[in-house]
Amino acid sequence: MKKINLHKAGRATHQSLRDMNEILVLNLVRERQPISRIDIAESTQLEGSTVSKIIARLLENEFVYENGVGSASPQGGRKKRFLHLNPEKAYAIGVDLGPQHNLIAVSDFSGRILRQTSVANNPDPQQALEAVARGIKKLLQSDLPQGRVVGIGVSLVGLVDAKEGRVLAGENLGWGDEVPVGSILRNALNLDLPIYFDNGARLAALAEIWFGKHTSRQSQDLVFLEVSEGIGAGIIIQGQLYHGSLNGAGEFGHISLDPAGPNCSCGGRGCLEVFASDQATINRYKELCRTEGCLAEIENEIDIEELIKRSAASNPRAIEALRQTATFLGRGLIPIIYSVNPEMIVLGGSITQAWDIVYPEIRRVLAAQITRFYSSHVTITPSTLGNKPSLTGATALVLARAFAAPSLGW
Ligand SMILES: [Zn+2]
Repeated sequence: MKKINLHKAGRATHQSLRDMNEILVLNLVRERQPISRIDIAESTQLEGSTVSKIIARLLENEFVYENGVGSASPQGGRKKRFLHLNPEKAYAIGVDLGPQHNLIAVSDFSGRILRQTSVANNPDPQQALEAVARGIKKLLQSDLPQGRVVGIGVSLVGLVDAKEGRVLAGENLGWGDEVPVGSILRNALNLDLPIYFDNGARLAALAEIWFGKHTSRQSQDLVFLEVSEGIGAGIIIQGQLYHGSLNGAGEFGHISLDPAGPNCSCGGRGCLEVFASDQATINRYKELCRTEGCLAEIENEIDIEELIKRSAASNPRAIEALRQTATFLGRGLIPIIYSVNPEMIVLGGSITQAWDIVYPEIRRVLAAQITRFYSSHVTITPSTLGNKPSLTGATALVLARAFAAPSLGW
C-alpha cells in the first residue's frame, strides 16, 4: 500500500499491526470509495471480522462514513452498505510560492480545494511572506470547523532544505540567494500548526499519486516533469517521494543535451532547460518569425499561452516551435527512463495544452532512441490536476501524514 514505508514501520508489535491494518483499510477507502466491507476484505485479504472492527474504529473516529445502499444481489441477498472517506475529518492549508503570485488554498480531507486566494509576490521575502501569513489567517477565520485544520504545506521553488523550509536559491522567486522561508512564516503566523515544506515539482509528483485521475492504475514508480520558467522533476519510487542525499534529486532540467549549447543559469551549457523551458519555446518562435519575415506576429511580447493559442489556430511557426521543444523533451526523458525506469511520466505546465503536438513528437524521439522494452512500457501523460499541481501537492504533504497514521487521531 503506498505511503507506508514498511522498512520504517519498526517492530511489528500488536499495537503497530493494528495500526498498519487501519492504514491499509483507510487508504483503500480513499482510493476506491465508495467501497463495501466485502470488497475491503477481498482486497486486503483480512478476515471479515477484522475488517469490521477496523471499520468500527474508523467510523468512531470519523475518518469514514457509511451511506448509500448498493443494489441487492439477484439472489435476494443483503444489500451492501458503502464506505466513504469523511471529507470533513480534517482540512489542510496549501501554499504555492511563485515568481509572480503566491497562492494559498484550503482543501478538505479528500484533497478537494475548497477556497483559493492569491497574493502578489514581493521582491522583499519578509513582506511577501507576511502577506502570505495574512492570507492564511484570513482563510483560517473563514467558516472552517474549529480545530480541524491540521497543518500547512508549502511548495517552494528550486533547491530547498525541506526540513527547515529554507529556499537555497531564491533567485527564481526574485529574492536573495538563500531565504529562511520557514522561520519567517512561523514568526509571522505565530500559530500552533505544523508547517511542512518541499520543492514544487516534488509536491506535484506527490499530488499525482495522491489525487491524480489517471485512467491506468495508480503508479508506484512515477516521475513528474514540470515545464515552466525552468524544468524540474519529482520522483516517486515504490510509492514514496525520493529526495536524494542532499534533497536535490530530480534536477533533470540540468542534464546537458549539448555541451557546446547555450549557457544555462546553472553554469553548465546546453541543458534541457535552455532548450525546452517556456522561454526557450517563445524565443524559438520569435526566431522562426524573423527568418520567415513574419515580424508583425512578434511586434508585441507574447507568453506561452498566446503561443499555444496560435498553434491551435494552425500558425505553422508556433506549431514548429512547440514541436522542436517536444524533440528536446523527448531527448531529456531518455536518461530519466533509463535511470528511474518509471511506469508513468507525468508532464505538467502550459505546454501540455498543446498535447496533440507535443506527445507524438516525444513518442517519435523515444521510439527512435531507446529500446522497445523501455519505450513500450512507459506511460507518458499530461497532469490531470489543472495548472497548479504543486498547490494540490502542498495540501497532500499535510494530508498524507494523516493517512499514514490514522490512529493518532486529532
Ligand atoms: Zn543547467
